[in-house]
Amino acid sequence: LAMMPCAIERESFMVAEAENGPVFPENLRGKRIVVLGAGRSGRAASALLARLDAQVVLADDNPDSVHPDDLDDVVASRVQLFLGPDVGPALLDRADGVVASPGIRLDHPVLARAREKGIPVIGELDLGARAARAPLVAVTGTNGKTTTVHWIAHILAKARLRAILCGNVGTALCRVVAEKPDWFVVEVSSFQLETVERFRPRVAAILNIAPDHLDRHPTARDYLATKARITANQQGDDALVLNADDAAVWSVGSATEALVWGFSLKGEVGRGVFLAGSRIVARKAPGEAPRAIASAEEIALPGRHNLANALAAAAAALLCGVEIEQVAEGLRDFRGVEHRLERVRERRGVLYVNDSKATNPASLEVALRSFERPIVLIAGGRGKGVAYEELAPLISSRVRRLILLGEEAPRMKAAWGGLVPTFFAADMEEAVAEAARSAEPGDVVLLSPACASFDMYRNYEERGRHFKRIVLELG
Ligand code: ADP
Repeated sequence: LAMMPCAIERESFMVAEAENGPVFPENLRGKRIVVLGAGRSGRAASALLARLDAQVVLADDNPDSVHPDDLDDVVASRVQLFLGPDVGPALLDRADGVVASPGIRLDHPVLARAREKGIPVIGELDLGARAARAPLVAVTGTNGKTTTVHWIAHILAKARLRAILCGNVGTALCRVVAEKPDWFVVEVSSFQLETVERFRPRVAAILNIAPDHLDRHPTARDYLATKARITANQQGDDALVLNADDAAVWSVGSATEALVWGFSLKGEVGRGVFLAGSRIVARKAPGEAPRAIASAEEIALPGRHNLANALAAAAAALLCGVEIEQVAEGLRDFRGVEHRLERVRERRGVLYVNDSKATNPASLEVALRSFERPIVLIAGGRGKGVAYEELAPLISSRVRRLILLGEEAPRMKAAWGGLVPTFFAADMEEAVAEAARSAEPGDVVLLSPACASFDMYRNYEERGRHFKRIVLELG
């Protein structure tokens, strides 16, 4: 245990234990609060707590998680750091509360100990939401969160509303909470929802639920219950947007106080946004005639999944008070988010698409279904121990040529190599060169690796940027 007291120790005040289970203190002045996890979110939470005059202890099992130079002035001057493996029981002595970073598992020994001792635990998101001086639009779901929050912010901008994107997308809510935009648009992971106590978004959305986080959620039911926590504190003047095509998501509507809007690619909803033929329409109250927003063909992002994201974003934006005309504008000219089926260029009739964010076979499947044209697929990287055989029919029907990279190449070749001509590339340069050579006008060259990047890159962003640079340098 390394203890680095770069802080003024303050007197702490004992608080009376709440009678109905531990409740995180409202007024944080002088309270001793332990922040667990010294990454960006934990540091932002510490800075906020210090501003609220709490006595902050920032702890992390990893002694190298943060260098004191990385801490901004507020944190460095007022926060005590405990860095090192097993932080030990002393950490929680006299603690009035614990704030968990999004990456901290609920079974972390410090959180378990806090529960035993009756010390209240909340997540960084909950802390941020308490301090927020603008309403929150919060989006959760298994897939499409990042795309949808960007889309919502884009539509809000059409209505000249200032939105700050935060949460799981990169900037912790605690970091931006001193600002006063019209809306905070928050991407919320299910991990963050595990530790909410008072989180109450004005508008919430649940996009879809695929039980793929089973390592942290032993049953699908738990997983659903966690997602449903996004609405747990909502009241009648709040709104909840639910995917009406996903039975599990839709079922959350029966257990909320909020006004429920649906979105659907498949049928009408009483209140919400849906497809009527090829038109995207909105209905604000049951029985009203639906109003046209835009045509599905006007959406620039490929794939049905992105159409679903569009409907969800439109519904959320309407609930934020944006007019239909501006929603339409924002649906039409949104160009998507980097590394997610991102159009790089069109060259000699061939479209190059960067989908480096596709780090598992499920995302590759979504990508393959998103194009009508023949695909030259670049895939591979570091595997996650999942099987590729299920995708074989889709590979054989959509992919013209398979170009494999990285550690997983042999396993992918074993699963699909018999179905389509296959090439092993030593690196991305060779993969792109081979793709450019073999693609015919009308094809898509798609980087959708279905694997992590860590065998060749620091992260998927670096992989995607490398791919784009090579593609843009093609003569
Ligand atoms: P998240 O932030 O939830 O990971 P992203 O917007 O980054 O979501 O999209 C990640 C991947 O999830 C995409 O590359 C695509 O494969 C898939 N995806 C996106 N939206 C949906 C959706 N609505 N339904 C199913 N899959 C989706």
